[in-house]
Amino acid sequence: MSKVISTEMERLLATGSTLRAMFEEGKKMRREFGAENVYDFSLGNPSTPAPPELNEAMKEVIDTTDSMMLHGYMSNAGYEISREAIAEDLNKRFGTNFAMQNVTMTVGAANALVVALKILINPGDEVVVFAPFFLEYRNYIADFGGVTAVVPPNPPTFLPDMDAFAATINEKTRAVIIDNPNNPTGVVYDEETIKAMAKVMEEAEAKYGRPIFLISDEPYREIVYDGVEVPFLTHYYKNTLVCYSYSKSMSVPGERIGYLLIPDEAEESERIIAASSIGVRVLGCVNAPSLQQLAIIKVLDKRTDVSVYAKNRKALMDAMDAGGFEYANPQGTFYMFVKTPIEDDHEFVRKAKDEFHVLCSAGAAFDCPGYVRFAYCVDHDMIVRAAPAIKALGHAYGLN
Ligand code: PLP
Repeated sequence: MSKVISTEMERLLATGSTLRAMFEEGKKMRREFGAENVYDFSLGNPSTPAPPELNEAMKEVIDTTDSMMLHGYMSNAGYEISREAIAEDLNKRFGTNFAMQNVTMTVGAANALVVALKILINPGDEVVVFAPFFLEYRNYIADFGGVTAVVPPNPPTFLPDMDAFAATINEKTRAVIIDNPNNPTGVVYDEETIKAMAKVMEEAEAKYGRPIFLISDEPYREIVYDGVEVPFLTHYYKNTLVCYSYSKSMSVPGERIGYLLIPDEAEESERIIAASSIGVRVLGCVNAPSLQQLAIIKVLDKRTDVSVYAKNRKALMDAMDAGGFEYANPQGTFYMFVKTPIEDDHEFVRKAKDEFHVLCSAGAAFDCPGYVRFAYCVDHDMIVRAAPAIKALGHAYGLN
């Protein structure tokens, strides 16, 4: 046991080195077998360029903004002009009625999530998540002494099972996190699902006599296919906090820009709004990056080219179909969640890598063993080259 490192950080160091090992392994394999013979679907890093208009907007902001305004501190919640522009954009798109004060600028969705949890969670409070889930949720919840309560996976649709959801809520439940469209399944929760979830939560609020917040993590909102609609949650449940990010929709994850949306109808909304700027401050971010706050509002109607992901999705679906694999309906994000033909997904990941040079992530990392995640934010040609290897992998398990 370290005399320096905290117990929680010891745990994180151990998981961190597993992920790093996978990354290093991919690099080593590319050196050994040649980059064109290794098919790496393990990383969720956007592979499409940012809209050119955003790059232009950044240059324009630098060229035309007073240095003190551009580079200085501002209110912890962000520039009023940015918050107002985002509120107006949401109102135009979703028929809502937000104003500047409902939007707090954050350092991506990750920061919005931890600010929301900082506001709501006392040590010992429970936060419900649905397996499979984005692995950082557990870490973020632990940051505040919260307890992650997991609703078991519900294959093959991966839509939440309402009875299991209701059974997970108790008097300690303070919040529920959903991620729609979902990382890692690619599934979109439709309106019917959201309405059923809202009903479960309203009944639980009435039963336990206090609010339960729905934290909606939405970095993939615009990355959807075949005209699928992603419900806007403040229409369905009043105690909703939306965590949004431009990381994926504009392909700018390194720029660290997003926001936390707090609707007026949420219980104690004024205090939550005040608390959100304090949250950004005391969690050490102080404010979201100033250049990005000013640039993004010039291009709110622009997106990265989602058709690139749509083409990749089709190619990977074709490869998986030819291989005989089953997978969750990939309606959004750039992930496909594939059922492993054996129970042990770690063994499947090992075999795929060692014998077929196909790299993917074990479902166990998302609290859902028996599945693997393929990230198709990759070069299209790599998917085409990977198709015979995926078919051979399926063949090795008697799937084709
Ligand atoms: N939530 C989910 C589900 C994600 O997949 C990610 C990033 O991959 C994040 C949050 C964090 O996004 P950001 O870069 O905006 O902090």
